[in-house]
Amino acid sequence: MSSQDMDNPWLAWAMTQESQMTVSGTLNTGNEYRNIWVYAELRAGFLAPETRQVFNKARELGDLLGARVQAVLFGGEESHAKDLIAYGADTVLWSQHAQLLSPLVELATQALGQLVETYKPEILLFGGTRLAEDLAPRLAARLATGYIADATDLELDDAERLLRVTRSTFGGKIQTVSVIAERKPQVALVRGGSFREADYDRFRAGEIVAVDVQLDETDATARLLETRASEGVDLENARIVVCGGKGVGKENWHLVEQLAEALGGELAGTKGAVAAGCIDASRQVGLAGKKVKPELYVGVGLSGSLDHQDGIAGARTLVAVNKDREAPLMALADYALVGDLAEILPSWIKSLRERQGKREPVATR
Ligand SMILES: Cc1cc2nc3c(=O)[nH]c(=O)nc-3n(C[C@H](O)[C@H](O)[C@H](O)COP(=O)(O)OP(=O)(O)OC[C@H]3O[C@@H](n4cnc5c(N)ncnc54)[C@H](O)[C@@H]3O)c2cc1C
Repeated sequence: MSSQDMDNPWLAWAMTQESQMTVSGTLNTGNEYRNIWVYAELRAGFLAPETRQVFNKARELGDLLGARVQAVLFGGEESHAKDLIAYGADTVLWSQHAQLLSPLVELATQALGQLVETYKPEILLFGGTRLAEDLAPRLAARLATGYIADATDLELDDAERLLRVTRSTFGGKIQTVSVIAERKPQVALVRGGSFREADYDRFRAGEIVAVDVQLDETDATARLLETRASEGVDLENARIVVCGGKGVGKENWHLVEQLAEALGGELAGTKGAVAAGCIDASRQVGLAGKKVKPELYVGVGLSGSLDHQDGIAGARTLVAVNKDREAPLMALADYALVGDLAEILPSWIKSLRERQGKREPVATR
């Protein structure tokens, strides 16, 4: 250990533990919880950006704690495991169990649970993807440990060796800091976009370890019947975007569709509208959806939460339609139309159509 290492209390602590630890390669087989794990997710054949973002922070925490940063990868190719090392993993625990090639989250929960029980990571981090939002709490429940969702920052409590997790709540109005004091591993899911992606260093050294998990078909109550490609939408490059929110509802959704058509724009929705079944998730705009940069963005019946604003920061002209003049998007908008969308939209669509020389009646229902 260099004198510089001795100055780092975490590293010094870890070095003294090292000699007492039972290790198999670089995996922890002792009784103490140690190392930082990152669940590595593949999307469309690539490491998900959310995974790459988490590595940036995991590396920083690992260096502070004197802990190894280890990635868990299910499926994929050896090149993915090598990429994880290039992004900062010291070790990649890699399983290619045939059952893990399906996206069924119950199987991933079983497999990850077995690995955690065997190799006991101190901290387990997930990037905030849709799959991880499902997997991480299931895993924490299985392990009877604590789970903190939607982290926007991660720090360490030096004295207690605890992960301090910052979350933004009430639409960003309040920041809270939480710790999982009593249980291990400390499981947290990081909101997408909270950290920049880790740098890729193809000369980094690391180890890829094939790990065994015991799974069979009966471990999943769901069955994968069919996989369909989602509709290819080029929202990111649309010149005009008309976005509907939860306030539109299914009963008035046709009005947002008609407005998008009359303006020659792409239709989009908030997370609230997706959850209400008004629009496909492939058209969600915001933090967990697409980032748009149109010349004209029209937001109808949506509040304009910080999560949604994350997706529209690049829009040039903003128009908001809302019956609540205090809604956050109304303050941001270049043109804020206060009123009931069921009254405002039909006359707007009518005048657009008249200008285009069209005479179709605007359907009110
Ligand atoms: C990790 C995470 C990621 C997220 N990612 C996203 C994301 O990508 N995109 C996203 O949008 N959200 C995202 N969210 C959710 C976000 O925080 C908000 O909950 C969501 O944006 C609210 O959707 P909304 O504006 O449609 O609904 P609401 O906030 O409920 O707003 C509805 C609005 O409609 C107005 N209204 C109702 N009726 C009428 C009417 N008749 N006429 C006019 N106005 C009316 C109301 O005044 C209100 O302002 C995320 C949340 C989390 C935790």
